[in-house]
This record gives sequence, C-alpha cells and structure tokens, in this order.
Amino acid sequence: LAEKLQNTLRKLKSKGKLSEAEVNEALREIRLALLEADVNFKVVKEFLSKVKERAVGQEVLESLTPGQQVVKIVYEELANLMGSHESKINWASRPPTVIVLAGLQGSGKTTTAAKLAYFCQKQGRRPLLVAADVYRPAAVEQLKILGQQCQLPVFSLEEGCSPVDITRLSLEQAVKSGYDPVIVDTAGRLHIDEEMMDELRAIKGTIQPHEVLLVLDAMTGQDAVKVAETFHQQVGLTGVILTKLDGDTRGGAALSVRAVTGCPIKFIGVGEKVEALEAFHPDRIAARILGMGDVLTIIERAQAAFDQAQAREFQRKLRQKDFTLEDFLEQLKQIKKMGSLDELLSLFPGSGPFKQLKGLQVDERELLHMEAIIQSMTPEERRNPTIINGSRKRRIAAGSGTSVQAVNRLLRQFSEAQKLMERLSELSSGKKTKGKGF
Ligand code: GDP
Ligand code: MG
Repeated sequence: LAEKLQNTLRKLKSKGKLSEAEVNEALREIRLALLEADVNFKVVKEFLSKVKERAVGQEVLESLTPGQQVVKIVYEELANLMGSHESKINWASRPPTVIVLAGLQGSGKTTTAAKLAYFCQKQGRRPLLVAADVYRPAAVEQLKILGQQCQLPVFSLEEGCSPVDITRLSLEQAVKSGYDPVIVDTAGRLHIDEEMMDELRAIKGTIQPHEVLLVLDAMTGQDAVKVAETFHQQVGLTGVILTKLDGDTRGGAALSVRAVTGCPIKFIGVGEKVEALEAFHPDRIAARILGMGDVLTIIERAQAAFDQAQAREFQRKLRQKDFTLEDFLEQLKQIKKMGSLDELLSLFPGSGPFKQLKGLQVDERELLHMEAIIQSMTPEERRNPTIINGSRKRRIAAGSGTSVQAVNRLLRQFSEAQKLMERLSELSSGKKTKGKGF
C-alpha cells in the first residue's frame, strides 16, 4: 500500500496545478491501493469522496505545491478516519479501573493483557492481571509466566470456577489491596459464537468494566472489521487494540475498524515482547500507511513557519521588487524554526542551483551575526545590496565585528533567497515554472 500510494503521489508532486481530472486519476489509483490493502469498500468510497471534495477547488497553501497539498489532504483525511485524536484509557473516577479484553483466540489477548499491565506499571500504577480464560489451563499458565517476567500480580482460581466468579472475586481483591487497574484476560474462540458472547455479557454485567477493549489481529484484514462489528453489536466495546502491526502488516484494518464501528483504536501491538505496546496515534499510522512520514513532517513545518499572511506580504513586496535584506532577516528567523532549508529545497524540482541556501543552518549566533551585518549597512544598501563595493564591505565587516567573507556569504544567500521567493510566488500563483532554470 505504502509503495502504491507513494508512486501515485510522486506522480502528482511534479505537476504544476491540479485539475479535477488529475485529482480523479490520482484518487482512482489510491482507491485500488486501499482496496488491495483490504480496506473496507464503503470506507474507501467515503474516504475518497472526502478527499476529492477538499482537493478540487481548494486554495493551495502558499508554501506548498498543489501536489503537496493533495498529499496533505490525503494524510489529514486518513488521520481523521482513524479518529483525529489519540485515545487514552478511560480511567475510573473511583479506582480500580476495570479493563476487560475480548477477542478471538490467537488475536493476542493474553499477551496484550500483560503488555497493558506493564504499560500501566511504567506509569506508576499497580495493575492486577486476572486470568479468566478457564477453558485452557495453558492460558492461565501463560498469563502467570508473563506476570512473573515483569513482577506483576496475577489473579487466578482453581479449575471449575466460572469466569464471572473469577472476575468478581478479583475485583474484591483489587479493592482490598489497592490494585488499579484490573485487567481481565478472557477466553476466545476460533470463531464468533454465542457462548463466547454470553460469557462476555455476563462478565460485563457483573463487574461493569470501564473499558471493554477488543483485541484484534491487524493481519486478518477485512475479517478484523467483521469481528469488530459483531463484538460491538453484541457486547458493546469502548475501544480496540490492534495487534501485530509490526512487520509488514498492512494498515488496512486500522483504517476501516474505526470508520465501521465508531470505536477508537487505543493501542497497537508491535511485537511479541511485553514492552511492545504503543498508544495509538492516528496521524502516525496515517503517515506510516502513506509511507511518507518525512515529507509530511516537512510540509507541517513549512506550513507552521510560513504564515500565510506573511507570505502574501512577501509576494506583494516581490512584485514591487521590494524584498529587502530586512525581509531576508525575517525569513531567516522563520528558517530557524524549521531547522534548515534543505528539506524544503528538496521539495522543489530543480532546486539544485540554490547552492548557497543548501546546508544553511540558522542558529541563534549566526542570526545575530547576520543581523549585525545588515544593521551595519545604510538603508539604501539594504534595499539595493548591489551598490555595496569592496571598501564598503570591509567597513560593514568591521562595523559588525564579522569578516568580509561573512558579508559576501550573506549577500549571496540573499540573492538566492530572492530567487527562491520568486519561485515560491510563481508556484503558489500556479504559473508554469518548467524550463525556467535558475
Ligand atoms: P490469545 O489467544 O488471544 O490470548 O493470543 P496470545 O496472547 O496467546 O497471542 C497469540 C500469538 O500472537 C502469540 O504467539 C503472541 O506472541 C503473538 N502476538 C501477540 N501480539 C503480538 C504483536 O503485537 N506482534 C506480534 N508479532 N505477535 C504478537
Ligand atoms: Mg489467551
């Protein structure tokens, strides 16, 4: 999926302006990629219509090319689809918080119970694990071993006790000993059946958990969506934990589960070890699905730094050939927020010629030097640096406590920044820039 989407989006990136036909073309490919990754058909349809609605006719941010703008929309809608915020555990106002894990056999319930307990322990809580999978003695043993590994208490009873009794008694124990949260590992089946649902409903009715989390194997694709739908209808879920998102698992399940059930994905399992549990970040998964985390980071940063209104002001100045060294200084302050210009430059096809700006790291000290140099110039020189001759350069260097080389470097950088500004303004006004060659 990542590869497919990336290819599609790469094609878009080099185009000047997006027509509706181009958007449609791109979305058709994205559609195929999503369906191939087992994303639910309805989800794909809804997703793409949203993207299209936003992509066609939307004002392109001034610091982005139209192609980047579509990347951004695809990414944002992907994140939205999976819940726009990171979901947390719904902690009880009066402890203990009770968390029941449900799911099919092999989905990773027992492992996840231990992971979640470990996760909570790291946050300074005192979790109690409860072994309520009474049908397989090995399951109780498995939980005990996992508990021992990270010194977590495991509550279990003799064979013959019902899961409802176990959970009820474990809760009493937790209250008595001050355990919080109580994490209940329940029995799964290979397939959804009435007995499993009845048992879960009984447990839910008895202990009234604050969370009923469905543990879902992300590798099962479309089936995961069906399982989630059924559990949600028959038992009522508060959230989902997607396991086995490590390795080359596709993102399809994460994409559909939230949209189809409305249940937030709260955690993801990323390995067999007890520490391999992470909070679910929709934006991160979206970036991962797109396989373009780096590009997105750049876009976000560029957007934050180049305030739209400011960009407009710069454009106005450019049109009036009024982009001065003082404006350049303002720009450098923006660049400082972004780290360096390199990543931004790499987004421009044919940015090779911006040699002076490549590798330009703007730190506090450098900025002070540049400011000093600019302040040592006359107002006329600041507006039109080409009038600065050799002897003036020496005076400016002396006046600012820098060197002639530093003055020269700044002037070269300024001249390239002017070109970059022109380029940016052309891109955002949609002019073709192909073959312009700086
Ligand atoms: P249960 O039947 O639902 O209790 O499932 P288990 O907890 O026994 O897990 C079934 C298998 O999946 C075990 O081999 C686990 O090690 C493995 N497993 C669980 N979660 C993950 C995960 O996030 N990543 C990987 N790679 N394996 C996992
Ligand atoms: Mg188990």
